[in-house]
Formats: sequence, structure tokens, C-alpha cells
Amino acid sequence: MSAYKKLGLRPVINAFATVTKFGGSLMPPEVLAAMNEAAGGFVDLAELQRRVGARIAELTHNEAAYVTSGAAAGIVLAAAAAVLRKHPDALQRFPDIADCANEAIIFRGQRNPYDYSIKQTGLRFVEIEGGPAALRAAINDRTACIFWFPRGALKVAEMSLATAIAIADEQDIPVIVDAAAQLPPLENLWRFTQMGAALALFSGGKDLRGPQPTGMMLGRRDLIDSIRPLSNPNHGLGRPLKVGKEEMMGLLAAVERYLALDHEARSQYCEDAVALFCAALNPLPGVSAERAYPNEAGQPLPWCRVTVEPAALGKSADELVAAFLAHEPAIAVSPLNETQFHLNPMTLNPGEEVIVREACVQLLGAGA
Ligand SMILES: *Cc1c(COP(=O)(O)O)cnc(C)c1O
Repeated sequence: MSAYKKLGLRPVINAFATVTKFGGSLMPPEVLAAMNEAAGGFVDLAELQRRVGARIAELTHNEAAYVTSGAAAGIVLAAAAAVLRKHPDALQRFPDIADCANEAIIFRGQRNPYDYSIKQTGLRFVEIEGGPAALRAAINDRTACIFWFPRGALKVAEMSLATAIAIADEQDIPVIVDAAAQLPPLENLWRFTQMGAALALFSGGKDLRGPQPTGMMLGRRDLIDSIRPLSNPNHGLGRPLKVGKEEMMGLLAAVERYLALDHEARSQYCEDAVALFCAALNPLPGVSAERAYPNEAGQPLPWCRVTVEPAALGKSADELVAAFLAHEPAIAVSPLNETQFHLNPMTLNPGEEVIVREACVQLLGAGA
């Protein structure tokens, strides 16, 4: 980490999550080796995209796959594919698509900062609230697609993904799922598309531990093929969303690794780390800690919820989050509110849990 230090930056221990802000995740040796090898030779990039896509599709039980420069880039390309389905002539016109079926239906309870990417294509939002009747009423000739963002505030009782897909199918409207952080569980790589979603978008740089600026679009071949002509190395809407040969090969290696990973051992590591944090924190006055499950992104992994009494400690949870970052070494933890924060073991390197535990005792212990 001396390269960061030379630039005057402090390396960070990540007990937060696979957040982009701190670098997403760390690439394992097999991913780095694949990128290194790819960097050693020229290749036809469009053909590489096809071959890597075909392999990822096979590995993930999908009809087709496409490597994108992140899940957010995947949202842009998926939205474009939804327009091209009815208007192949729009290929070189994005975002000038006012004369096309240019409406994307989204649910108010699922609005989030990533949905902005949909608008970059020129699509307009039709924001709906409510159940099946509201969705049926919103679909018309101008509907290009329906976006689904798991983990929003939308209650399953109001609308489930299965119901949304069933209604969309009645009118032949594609449903696009932003599954960026929906790994683990591994099965989500095929679950959404097998449920009938037209496309599902994943981050390559989160739990897959591929290159940070990668992602993948999984699903229907016709939709994926439709965006090739406007996407790198070709020109158009997708050209700025470039993915290199190193990223493509790195992501493929990451998917292969993820499929072979011992997810149970990994989950056990997280359980042990949470137990370690709870045991160190609970004896401290004004502090309580508990195992929480699943974590914020809904991943089936435990994390440690820490609740503090600011009056007893003389510090709010937000001040403690800042203190962890100012600590030597710097530790990023996941902020929640004035009295609570989370310690997330999923992005720790084995051994770092001990450093985090020591920092907890130092920052929250008596006399801190
Ligand atoms: C992280 C995330 C994204 C963006 O993914 P990138 O791969 O960083 O582009 C999009 N949507 C959701 C819900 C996310 O959590």
C-alpha cells in the first residue's frame, strides 16, 4: 500500500461494504493474473466481448451476457436495448428519442440514486405507486420497459417481482432488474432471469471481486445483441462506457472463481468476525452490539449492529464513524444514524477483524 502513501493517501481497512467510495472490493490473484495476461497481447475486442459473454452466459445459466463498465453502465445499455426493440432506427440517435416509445416505468418505493442512468438514454420516467392495478394502468404504447430495483421500500405485499413480470408479459414489455449488489447468494446470477426478467445487471466490482469498473448484463440474446452496434469498440451511446480486454478477462476469471468459491466457509468467517466484535463491544459501558441478518443490501451474510448511548460515551455514532476513519490504520465502518453503525466483515481481509476489534475497544472503551 506504499503507492497510496506516496500520494499522501491513507490505506483504508474496509468494514463498510463493497462501496464504490472506498474501492468496491479487492481483486484476488486469479483475477489479477487474468488481467495481466490479457494486457500482454492485442485481440479483436468485439470478438472478445462475444466469447467472454458466451462463457459467462454458460456459467451463469443465461441465454446471453455482456460485459459492461459497471452495473450503472448496464442500466444505460439495458434501457437503450428496450428502446431499440421497437425502434431499431434509434441506434445512432440517443438521447433524441422523443418520437419513440420512450417511457420507463419505475416504482416510487424503489427510487434510488442509480435510476438517473435510465434518463441518459432519453427515456422518461413514469413513476407509479401502488399494486398491480397501478402498473396495468401505466402501461401503454409508449412504454419501453419496467425497471425493478430490489431492496427498495416497496413492500412485497404491494408488488412482487414475479407479479410485475407477469403483468409486463401480458403486454410484451421487458422487465429490467438492477441486481448490482444482489450477490451473494450466487443463485441470483440466474434467479431473476429465470423468473422472466428480460435482463439483470450486476456489478463486477462488488462481491464478485472482478475489476472495479466492470459489470455484466445477463439475459435475452436479442436485447444484448441490439446494443453491440452502439457500444465500444463501435460508436454511439455506449462508446464512453468502454470496457478493455483486461477488464473482460478479469471479470470472466472473477465469475469462474465465484462459482467455485466455498460460500459456506466465507459465511462462517463473517459469523466468527461478528461474534468477535460482539464479545469485545458488549462489556463496554454505554455500548451494545448484536448480530444482524441479512445485511443492508439483503445479502445472506451477518454483520454487527452497534448501538451506543451518546450521553454515556460523549460521542454520537456519527462521530464514532469519523473516529474510525481517523484511527491509525483508517477503518471505514457503515454509518446508520445518531446512535447506531454497522461493522461489516464481508470486505475484510482475513486477519483484519482483529485490527477492527482492537480499534473498537480503543474508540468505544472506557476513557476513550
Ligand atoms: C452499486 C450499485 C449500482 C452501481 O454499480 P456499479 O457497478 O458501481 O456501476 C447500481 N445499483 C445499485 C442498487 C447498486 O448497489
